[in-house]
Amino acid sequence: AKIGGRNAIRFFDPDMQVELNRRSTIEKALRRAVNSNQLSLYLQPQVDIERHIFGVEGLLRWEDPILGFVPPSDFIPVAEASGLIIPLGEWVIEQACEILARWKHDPILKSVKLSINISPRQFHHAEFVSVIEKQLEHHQLDGSKLELEVTESLLIEDIDITVSRMKALGKHGIQFALDDFGTGYASLGYLKQLPLALLKIDQSFVKDLLTDNNDEAIVTTILALGSSLELGVIAEGVESRQQVSKLESMGCHLFQGYLYGRPAPAEEWQRKIID
Ligand code: C2E
Ligand code: CA
Ligand code: CA
Ligand code: CA
Repeated sequence: AKIGGRNAIRFFDPDMQVELNRRSTIEKALRRAVNSNQLSLYLQPQVDIERHIFGVEGLLRWEDPILGFVPPSDFIPVAEASGLIIPLGEWVIEQACEILARWKHDPILKSVKLSINISPRQFHHAEFVSVIEKQLEHHQLDGSKLELEVTESLLIEDIDITVSRMKALGKHGIQFALDDFGTGYASLGYLKQLPLALLKIDQSFVKDLLTDNNDEAIVTTILALGSSLELGVIAEGVESRQQVSKLESMGCHLFQGYLYGRPAPAEEWQRKIID
């Protein structure tokens, strides 16, 4: 037998050690980042069928002085596992409310909705509802321009608790979008019980929509579901005109993706929306 060969079982896997080290480095640095101005909330536009920007999605960006730019796909899982998602998520909520407060007196910007991503652990945290309520009050906002993007994994907890939290926030006018729809495991029965406004078609289905019949079938199904449940449906990850034409012909009227703009600092989008 080959010792240390490709398929040998090892008690100590150097690759795994590298991964663990990276995670712990990220965790330490992230702990500092929350309090030291290294985070920013970028915005990406969402457009309707007439290409009007009706909303923006807030996406976290982190630049550490030593690690450099760390993508969310690297630090969000670490934040979730370590619990750092709670202060991090709170920072995002504060930023979002600050932006909405700045926009609320502008004749154009005041009609733009801002959606932020909420991780399941953050949603189920005891203080979640009150953190949002405090920010709304602090900035004298109603919640009608705030949208929260949640995923199907929210439903790992009790459905009644999930629904009652969503309803408590809904009283302020806050709306909910179901992110990455189609990639999770939620049963469609649950979907009916959740007070949702929007389904977001995951970008994995949009990517090969023009060539993959399975993706086309899935998108058709999501659009039909949205229309029968009276939910808006937005396609994510739209990169080409051909994808938009296809989506439009299938009955999709809301789009988000690099074709209409990459995530960028709030000031940049502010200027573009007003112009
Ligand atoms: P997501 O919520 O599904 O966000 C969409 C991701 O797709 C973003 O990646 C966005 O930059 C990217 N994207 C947008 N348009 C296109 C396109 O046309 N083509 C391609 N290829 N990609 C596109 P990003 O910003 O790297 O974020 C990755 C994920 O990290 C997000 O996925 C979300 O799950 C998480 N995330 C980001 N910000 C936050 C946050 O503030 N809180 C939480 N809990 N999660 C966040
Ligand atoms: Ca999202
Ligand atoms: Ca998504
Ligand atoms: Ca995603």
